[in-house]
Amino acid sequence: MRALWQQAKNRLHAFEDHLTVRTQIAAAVAALSIVLVGTLAAGAALISYRNTAALIDSSLTQIASTTSGRLDRFMATRQQEIKLFAELQPMQPLWQGDPAALRRALESLQRTFSDFAWIGFADTEGNVVAATGGLLQGKSVAARPWFKQGLRSVAIGDVHEALLLASLLTQRANNEPYRFVDIAVPVHDAAGKLLGVLGGHLDWNWASNLIKDAEANDGNTNTQLSILSKGGTILVGPKQETVRYGGDDLAGILKAGVGTLHETVDERQMLTAFHVGKGHRDYQGLNWIVTASQPASVALAAAISSAQTILAIGAVTALIGLSLAMLVSRRIAGPIIAITGEADRIGRAHGPTMLARQSGSAEVVQLSRALRSLLRRIGLAEERTREAELRATENAMQLQEDMLKLRQLADTDFMTGLMNRRSFLAVADDAVAFCRRYKRNMATLMIDIDHFKKINDTHGHPAGDDAIKRVAEIVSQSIRTTDKAARFGGEEFVVLLREIDQETAALLADRIRTSIESATVRHGDIVIPITVSVGLALFDERDRDVQDVIERADQGLYVAKKTGRNRTFLMPATDERAARAA
Ligand code: GH3
Ligand code: MG
Ligand code: MG
Repeated sequence: MRALWQQAKNRLHAFEDHLTVRTQIAAAVAALSIVLVGTLAAGAALISYRNTAALIDSSLTQIASTTSGRLDRFMATRQQEIKLFAELQPMQPLWQGDPAALRRALESLQRTFSDFAWIGFADTEGNVVAATGGLLQGKSVAARPWFKQGLRSVAIGDVHEALLLASLLTQRANNEPYRFVDIAVPVHDAAGKLLGVLGGHLDWNWASNLIKDAEANDGNTNTQLSILSKGGTILVGPKQETVRYGGDDLAGILKAGVGTLHETVDERQMLTAFHVGKGHRDYQGLNWIVTASQPASVALAAAISSAQTILAIGAVTALIGLSLAMLVSRRIAGPIIAITGEADRIGRAHGPTMLARQSGSAEVVQLSRALRSLLRRIGLAEERTREAELRATENAMQLQEDMLKLRQLADTDFMTGLMNRRSFLAVADDAVAFCRRYKRNMATLMIDIDHFKKINDTHGHPAGDDAIKRVAEIVSQSIRTTDKAARFGGEEFVVLLREIDQETAALLADRIRTSIESATVRHGDIVIPITVSVGLALFDERDRDVQDVIERADQGLYVAKKTGRNRTFLMPATDERAARAA
């Protein structure tokens, strides 16, 4: 789960990296606008719906209450009329008199109150003595509830279809059955003796007319009025004779007496107000329920209209907001784009090395300042690096020089400046290898100052040193640059002659010897005559290494010393071998 969340976050960041600040701000403002406008529109719609629904509820309650009141007042008046008629003084003699006269009186009453479909008088046994139109006259109504109840007190029977009268009354134009509300009162004589029951059947049609009048007067054609019995059955209204409310709903309505409810009728949302009739004055009331309904779509339409208005205003506001956001984001992004462009040019060939100051917001000023400071530090660091590199190069060169000097020092004889024994042997070894490989000639001279001890003894050690230096000088000057001379120790020198034949080598050796002989060595005021003896040996391919050649030259030197000094002796290879053999 966490990995998934992390992955989603990474994706979002990667996506964000592709978006400019402008796009991001615009998207944020757009999202905010949608949320804000949506919420406002929904809120306004809800409030509007509630307000309109409350208004409708209250107006429906008003209609239901008024209609219910009119119903009750109507019933109360009818009840009062029957009651008055029963107690009317002039009627007293008629109750037990001529039935024809009573019938005429009843018929005149019906003419005055046309809502009565039938008015009749039954004696205490339930036999109809007289009735309007002579209907049911001589018949028994003893079993009828109105009669039974009417014997005791004023009786009101709830709406019912005409039972006994159905066949006797003329058919209605629309073929609808007659439905009656019964009103019955006991009739007494002057002494208070019960004579019978005066009953009237109110034609229920008046209730339908009353509802139609109320609906027409309401002006709002959407209002639907109904009258229900206290049992929840529809007495007047659509789906007549069906039960509209039952159980808890009905109990709730009867208990509340007046109120509103939101219900679904035929899959339509309806706002309904109800009012339960509680009677009027003497009239006890039959607890008829008057309902007034309106489709909730009326309230919804108002809500939708409010939402549409808010949405339209919101869309315009959002557009303005979006334009402002674009402007603001352009101002925000501008300096950043400028910094990026300048930073990109820095460091390219001959480009600028510093950023221009940027402004636009505190962050941009800070960023510009930080970058400028960073560039200054980088410049300083670069300069230091350059200096360090320069110093390092200088040091390396110095080191190389020192090494060279040291090497020279290590390879050179301190007193004479000639090669020393070690460096000479290395060079000579290479030369021997070369001569052996390419069949070239090479010679070695071994030079030693004659009676040197005597010089030291006679003139002192420093004078001896001067003699050594002078001999070294003459040897160096006598040889070619390709030849090498070295001080081998004490007053002894070795010379390596390259590419040389025996004859030239002998000539060169002797020239060195005569040069030294004819040279003068000065030490202070003293002039010291010196001579050297020279041993000469040529490279022979049988020589194992340079030591063999040097040794042969040394033998030559030995011979030269032995044979009188101040001379050169060539030590031939064959001889040497013969000597070795001997
Ligand atoms: P020979 O003719 O047989 O060579 O006789 P010599 O006297 O030259 O004998 P040798 O070559 O054996 O003598 C070498 C002497 O050189 C011994 C030593 O006191 C001296 N000597 C060696 N090195 C130095 C040096 O650096 N300076 C001086 N002044 N004398 C040195
Ligand atoms: Mg010597
Ligand atoms: Mg010597």
